[in-house]
Amino acid sequence: MSARHRVERVVVGGGIGGLTAALALARHGLPVHVLEQAPEFGEIGAGVQLAPNALRVLDRLGVLGDVLTSAVRPPKAVMMSAVTGEQITAIDFGEEFRAAYGHPYVVTHRSDLLAAVLDACRAEPAITLETGRSVRAVRQDGDTAVAECADGAEYRADALIGADGLWSAVRAHTVGDGDPAYIGDVAYRGTIPTAAISDRAGKEDMTWWIGPGLHLIQYPVRGGELFNQVAVFTAAAHGPAEEWGQPDELDRAFEATSDYVREGVRLVDRDRHWVLRDRPPAAAWSRGRATLLGDAAHPMAQYLAQGACQALEDAVALADLLAAHGPDVPAAFAAYEAERVPRTAKVQTWARRMGEIVHADGVTALLRDALLGGRDERDFQYTDWLYGHRTGAAPTERTP
Ligand SMILES: Cc1cc2nc3c(=O)[nH]c(=O)nc-3n(C[C@H](O)[C@H](O)[C@H](O)COP(=O)(O)OP(=O)(O)OC[C@H]3O[C@@H](n4cnc5c(N)ncnc54)[C@H](O)[C@@H]3O)c2cc1C
Repeated sequence: MSARHRVERVVVGGGIGGLTAALALARHGLPVHVLEQAPEFGEIGAGVQLAPNALRVLDRLGVLGDVLTSAVRPPKAVMMSAVTGEQITAIDFGEEFRAAYGHPYVVTHRSDLLAAVLDACRAEPAITLETGRSVRAVRQDGDTAVAECADGAEYRADALIGADGLWSAVRAHTVGDGDPAYIGDVAYRGTIPTAAISDRAGKEDMTWWIGPGLHLIQYPVRGGELFNQVAVFTAAAHGPAEEWGQPDELDRAFEATSDYVREGVRLVDRDRHWVLRDRPPAAAWSRGRATLLGDAAHPMAQYLAQGACQALEDAVALADLLAAHGPDVPAAFAAYEAERVPRTAKVQTWARRMGEIVHADGVTALLRDALLGGRDERDFQYTDWLYGHRTGAAPTERTP
């Protein structure tokens, strides 16, 4: 007979969101068991941008120091035309930015971020971690939720948290809204040695080269040793979606861009690509004793670079509310949704819009460049609502 386990809390998925949720629960003294399907905890070999709203969470959980050891603090985020190579606008991440948000803007390697959180989890006696456990279904049973694993093992818990990403098995039980939606864009990403790409003024910035139906993001990670690149373009839809946007289409999409952009695209990792998907915001994520966080709850287009940041915000919000509501798990989940659904719905919606803005063509692009070109690099009115958010506190948001 397959093993039956009884735990107080179980997190399904040991990615950034799931491990941070486990850590946040443990910091409240609440025991938690994590089930990860992969044979090892790990992240893909690419970078991630972390805005002050994410660093605030990492700071609270005591892992920010570790993250900052290898993270890079770019002096600016610069939006450039991928075609003319001219600057459109920038955000200065200097002293005024830090004073406004209390934390810097950093970029790091995903593995370095995950390792920092994982090390902290391993040092917490309240956390038990298990890999090679794939959850295929969830059911409610009285005042518990049961995670059913592919190998027949079961984990019964008072609270079950689905942090199992875009293709969440837990979401199929709590929301049941089918597959995520195609955005229409494809991404190639990965890191190269920084010395492999030509030097240029501004190479240390977070640079966003944008053009009609495409963009290339570049920034250094791992103390500047590696250079992260994400090349995105609108792919022609033909055949099975996973085959959209083959490398020859990538090259064709960037044909009319500047020499530097084409050099970057030539060097980007072509072994794997991502057909990008999101979902429209859902009104609720929970059912009985199960809820969701991170991409399982609100998968979003990556144009605001906030998917992981929002997962971190979710993690502490949920842990705080589970701690506050004690045995009344449904009340904690209801309070969690009341706090997190509106916030993440707004980020999901704006992430899609941002994609339309950066990929614009013709007169819309001209208008965008004229409007953004006039703003001051230390004008933070567009980012206040996003980076100034304090999880658990009433938001002081200015909608752009
Ligand atoms: C091109 C691109 C660039 C991005 N850039 C940024 C950025 O700069 N900044 C940012 O904040 N966000 C960014 N994001 C978004 C970010 O990557 C995600 O939002 C984030 O990884 C979500 O974390 P998660 O823990 O919720 O899910 P995931 O990272 O997907 O982790 C889910 C985990 O669950 C496990 N799992 C899945 N199914 C099961 C199962 N059935 N049983 C057990 N385990 C399971 C998986 O193996 C995985 O470990 C980007 C996304 C893309 C596509």
